[in-house]
Amino acid sequence: MSVSSVADGVSDGFALAKAASASAPVALVVDGRQKDLAFVAPQGSDVSIVVSTDDLGREVIRHSTAHVLAQAVLRLYPGAKYSIGPPIQDGFYYDFDVETPFTPDDLEAIEKEMRAIVKENQRFERAEVSREEALELFADQPYKVEIIEGVAGDAEGAEREGGTGEVLTVYRNSVGDDVRYVDLCRGPHIPGTGRIKAFKLLRSSGAYWRGDEKRPMLQRIYGTAWESKDAMQEYLDRLEEAEKRDHRKLGRELDLYSWPSEVGAGIAVWHPKGGILRKEVEDLSRQMHIERGYDPVFTPHLGKSDLWEISGHLDFYSENMFPPMSMEGADYIAKPMNCPFHVLIYRSKTRSYRDLPLRLSELGTVYRFERSGALHGLLRARGLTQDDAHLFCRQDQIVEEMVGVIDFLRDLYAVFGLSPDAVRFSTRPAKSVGSDELWELAEAAIPQALSKAGLEFEVDEGDGAFYGPKIDIDVRDAIGRYWQLCTVQVDFNLPERFGLEYIDADGSRKQPVMLHRALYGSIERFIGVLVEHFAGAFPTWCAPQQVAIIPIADRHVAYAGSVLERVEAAGLRGDVDTSDNTMGAKVRNHQLQKVPYMLIVGDDEAGSETVSVRSRSGKESRGVAVGEFVSRVTAEIQARDTELSF
Ligand SMILES: [Zn+2]
Ligand SMILES: [Zn+2]
Repeated sequence: MSVSSVADGVSDGFALAKAASASAPVALVVDGRQKDLAFVAPQGSDVSIVVSTDDLGREVIRHSTAHVLAQAVLRLYPGAKYSIGPPIQDGFYYDFDVETPFTPDDLEAIEKEMRAIVKENQRFERAEVSREEALELFADQPYKVEIIEGVAGDAEGAEREGGTGEVLTVYRNSVGDDVRYVDLCRGPHIPGTGRIKAFKLLRSSGAYWRGDEKRPMLQRIYGTAWESKDAMQEYLDRLEEAEKRDHRKLGRELDLYSWPSEVGAGIAVWHPKGGILRKEVEDLSRQMHIERGYDPVFTPHLGKSDLWEISGHLDFYSENMFPPMSMEGADYIAKPMNCPFHVLIYRSKTRSYRDLPLRLSELGTVYRFERSGALHGLLRARGLTQDDAHLFCRQDQIVEEMVGVIDFLRDLYAVFGLSPDAVRFSTRPAKSVGSDELWELAEAAIPQALSKAGLEFEVDEGDGAFYGPKIDIDVRDAIGRYWQLCTVQVDFNLPERFGLEYIDADGSRKQPVMLHRALYGSIERFIGVLVEHFAGAFPTWCAPQQVAIIPIADRHVAYAGSVLERVEAAGLRGDVDTSDNTMGAKVRNHQLQKVPYMLIVGDDEAGSETVSVRSRSGKESRGVAVGEFVSRVTAEIQARDTELSF
């Protein structure tokens, strides 16, 4: 075994830089490759320092903390087998094969052991070992053996690991000559465990080895680690806020939707209140599509396998599709996408250049196979309804259509107080269909359209689909989380596969370009995001119940009924709370249900044809004439305001 370099040597040279800034150096990037601080870069190489507050720096800290976690588990559970422990967004995990699942008490004990390891300030040392040495080193660790065998057999994987297939890298944690932990890893790592400033274990759950339900069930421990205690506290606060807003929890409390086990995982049913919310969100979409020159179409939930063969889905997408149903000698498949149906509508008659652009839109429900472990409420489901549209246009119309789509999505998101934030533009991959001319045209059109809309974007070179470039758009919610919602995809493939044509001005036959786009993405996912964004306190226009009228005593019920009549006549959704609850309980219940307005009526109000308005935020306005309340709230709803008018 040869140790290629010893940690903490070069790193001390950064003491000055460290003192000058709150963020400490943790790793290097040398000629595009991540390296330990101790790496001695060859002359002339391009070196940049990764600090603890960089995304990459945090990754290094988190991954190093994962090693500490595994060491703690091996100390406390001598028979444990350890597998892999990568950094993930905001944290890390490590998977273990242990006799029984970890309990919260176990996690506490493990965390304590980790603190001890941090205190020991063990060095992280990188070493290169041969395949044989590695196999010997991890002889009683079957998961490591499987990884070693996999890496050695995979030239590309081995190169990623920094080896040649026969050389692997390991990281040892030691104090003096005492090696306390070894892991198979490509690094980089922080110089010593003492550099871990803030970490916490969060939870554990079962996870199949390699994500394969036929392989052993391992126990995964999740944790988080940060460059400072303050940064971690900020994250934990955010996490707590996110848990309060969890759309599955709020969906239950607000009676919006559920997932009955008899239906099947990942397929929701919508209750009356969720139904109203969804209808409002859909109606907005329908109205805006019509205003923007889209033609609504309807297509079925099933299509014969012939269709999916022509479209190519059976070749390229079958692992995401529900299996076929056989009937009368034909196979039918629940649609995973709406596109082929829209293509058939385009092809149903001869199209002229004057008919273009043709924009076909549909709230189309599709079914996709997602692993049960990947399902997450409405955010990742097996049944989802896309606000889908396909735009068929001439080449000279691509820019204009793109601009139109981006303009549309900005206006749509603005209604919910959201705006496009991170935008990614993915360009031509190595293998692709479509002519150079078409690709050049579309790849020029997208940045042009994004700039026209004033949107900054990142370019993912070569990350486009084989059939065309695309843009992905994320929004940021009320607590700063990013959600990927919208995709706009240019497609040179389906028009070709289905032989789409139009007759041009000169009488020649040309192939149209096709754009796929969904703005909400899916109605389910978008509503899941909305529930979390608003924490269930929806703007009045889409709130399931808008008004609750609360009579102070039984003698005010008749007046409350007359107020309800006027409220309902104006199209508002309300009811009178005639329950036996106390006033306080009635107000509290409606507040928990996040009803925007409570109208409290007693002797004063009945005598003067007024109401006491109490908004869900707790603001009170007394002596408001019923007509005044109705007209202000009606105007608020018509404008689809996100702010309450009282
Ligand atoms: Zn590692
Ligand atoms: Zn499509």
